[in-house]
Amino acid sequence: MVRDRCAAAVAVIAVHDTSLGPAHGGIRRWPYPTFAAAVSDVVALAQAMTWKCALAGVPAGGGKAVILDRPDLDRGAAYRLVGRALAQLGGRFFTGPDVGTTAADLDVVAGETSFVATQGGGAGDLGMATARGVFAAMQALAAHLGTDLRGMRIAVQGVGAVGGRLAELLHVAGAELVLSDLDHDRARQVAAAVGAAVVDGDAILTAPCDVFAPCALGGVLTPAVAERLPARGVCGAANNIFTGPDAARVLHDRGIVAVPDFVANAGALIAGATFHLAGAAVPPERIDAIGATATEVLNRARAADLPPSEVALVMAQERVARAREERHT
Ligand code: NAD
Repeated sequence: MVRDRCAAAVAVIAVHDTSLGPAHGGIRRWPYPTFAAAVSDVVALAQAMTWKCALAGVPAGGGKAVILDRPDLDRGAAYRLVGRALAQLGGRFFTGPDVGTTAADLDVVAGETSFVATQGGGAGDLGMATARGVFAAMQALAAHLGTDLRGMRIAVQGVGAVGGRLAELLHVAGAELVLSDLDHDRARQVAAAVGAAVVDGDAILTAPCDVFAPCALGGVLTPAVAERLPARGVCGAANNIFTGPDAARVLHDRGIVAVPDFVANAGALIAGATFHLAGAAVPPERIDAIGATATEVLNRARAADLPPSEVALVMAQERVARAREERHT
C-alpha cells in the first residue's frame, strides 16, 4: 500500500509472480467500497496477469496497481504517487492502462518514472491493441463454432477504451451489435457510429446473441447469470469475468464456449511488454497470434470436455512452473 503524506491518495500495488520476468500490469482507478475490496481486487488482477503473460509468450510476470477513487480525490496526486512508487521499484514493475486510467493519467505517471507505457512514448494505442487481440480471439471462437463473424450478433457490455474499439472492428467485420454502457452518452455515441442497438444496464446479460463480450468489469458471470446467458460463446476484454470456477462450469455444461479472459485480452500486455523489454513497437501479427492461442485452448478444452478457463489455467501454470525450475537449475 502507498499513500501520500496527507493520505489524500491511496494506492495498492501487487506483484504476483516474476518467474517469467518483471511484473507487468495496468493501473485501475475505482471507488472500492472498502480497503479490503481493493486489496482482494488487486491481488486477483495481478494473478491473472501472471497467467496472461505465460500464455501470451511474454517474458514478464503478473502485477497490478489500484487507486482507491473517491469524489474528492486529487487525481494528479494519485497518479504521481503510483509513479513514484514504481520508480522506487526500479523496473521490477512496468505499468499501463486499465479501467479509470486514461492516456493523460499515464503521462502524469511518466512524469515520475519511465516504467510506464505511454502513447506518446512509443508504446502505441494500448486500448486498440487489446481490442485487436479480443477481435482475433473472437474470430477463433467463431471458427470453433463453425461460422465467422459476418452476421453474428454480438452483445458488448462496456464500450470504453477497449469495448468501443472492439465494436468498431466487429462492425467492419459485418457483425450485428447490441451494446450497453453505464455512461449513456458514450453508449449512444458508439452505437450511432457502428449502427448498434443499445440496452440499459443488466439487460445486456439477457439480450439474445451469439457471443457475449464482457468489456466492462470482472465478476459479471455468476452461476445464476451463466445459467441464463442467451449466447453460444463468450469472449471479451474484462479481467476475471467469472465469480469462480462454478460459473465457468455452468457455461460449459450448457455447451457455451468461453474464451478465457486472460487469453483474449493480452493485446496491451504484448504491445506494452514488447515496448518495455525490446524497445520496439509490436508487429500487429504478434497480437493477432492471440487467435491461434485461443484456438489451441478451445481445441484442448473440447478434447478434454473441460471449461476452457480450467485448461488455460493449467497450461499457464505449467509454463510458469517450468520457468521457475529453469531458474533454479
Ligand atoms: P474503460 O474504463 O475505458 O471502459 C470501461 C467501460 O465500461 C466504461 O465506459 C464504463 O462506463 C463501462 N461500464 C462499467 N461497468 C459497466 C456495467 N456494469 N455495464 C455496462 N458498462 C459498464 O476500461 P477499458 O480500458 O476499456 O477496460 C475494459 C475492461 O477490459 C476492464 O475490465 C479491463 O480490466 C480490461 N482490460 C483492459 C485493457 C486495456 O488495454 N485497457 C487490457 C486488458 C484488459
